Amino acid sequence: MEVVIVPSADDSGRVVAGLLTVTGSGTSTGSVVGLDVGGTGIKGARLGLAGGVQERVAIATPVAGGPTAVVRAVVQAARSLTRPDTIGVGVCSAGLIDTGAGVVRRAGNLGLRDVPLARVVREAVGLPVTLEHDARAACLAEHRLGAGRGSEDLLLVVLGTGLSAGVLTGGRLVPGSLGFGGEIGHAPVHPDGESCPCGQRGCLEVYASAGGMVRRYRSAGGDPAHSAADIARAVDRDPLAGRIWAEGMEALGLGLRSAILLLDPGLVVLAGGLTGAGERLVAPVRTAVAGGLAWREPPPISISTLGAEAGVHGAALVLLDSTGRR
Ligand SMILES: [Zn+2]
Repeated sequence: MEVVIVPSADDSGRVVAGLLTVTGSGTSTGSVVGLDVGGTGIKGARLGLAGGVQERVAIATPVAGGPTAVVRAVVQAARSLTRPDTIGVGVCSAGLIDTGAGVVRRAGNLGLRDVPLARVVREAVGLPVTLEHDARAACLAEHRLGAGRGSEDLLLVVLGTGLSAGVLTGGRLVPGSLGFGGEIGHAPVHPDGESCPCGQRGCLEVYASAGGMVRRYRSAGGDPAHSAADIARAVDRDPLAGRIWAEGMEALGLGLRSAILLLDPGLVVLAGGLTGAGERLVAPVRTAVAGGLAWREPPPISISTLGAEAGVHGAALVLLDSTGRR
């Protein structure tokens, strides 16, 4: 049996589901569950191996209830989606993820530390369960189904509450020795710069993530109700918004230049909430990257096509890969 992944698009052309088409003599039934655990919400879907999204769940992450409540919510989401024909559950999560051990080492936004999430979910649903970092899962999904199709060397940078990256080289995800690969958000862009929640100073995430820009804008006296999207929209009429945004783009350009020189990706895909700013984001980032590279052409920089779906599909793909159903 061969499983072929076919991207599926809605009326606007946006890819909404990675359809898994089974060819050959095998059965066409079966499903896989993908779960994306973030600081705000837990999103999940059951995807048919024969194609299509069969069911979705979306629940608020009960961070205020502590780690037990968060883990219980993940288990509840997994249970609600599995059916007798489900072959496994792929989970991806924010935070520092030990993929091999299936453990969330540290996830500040989720309040989790050293939680064996894969084992807990496996025992609850009685099925194979994989755990992957959310940005790496999204990177795999964009590679197979989205903006990164055709690129075997892909850098996906998620600009959300925090900032992290998924790295794919030679068609394979790069978790690193500890599973901390891709944490470019904590690469220094300003030595002795502003402090980062991680304990370091001058991290890229402080300046270029959606969360970081909102914090910097507020602390400089900007409207406390402004979101990162509001800041992006106000750059031409609000000098403070203009400065915070420009400094963010400059920092992102610097961070991307280092990553490009290290990895030589064929394509850089930007993902996460900040990409709602569209060309206000991509144009200055392209300029900042190109302006700092003297002897080589920058790789193309584009925006994710899977959007908020990438994590769920990537998590499901990781589970499928683990079962050999490539
Ligand atoms: Zn940091």
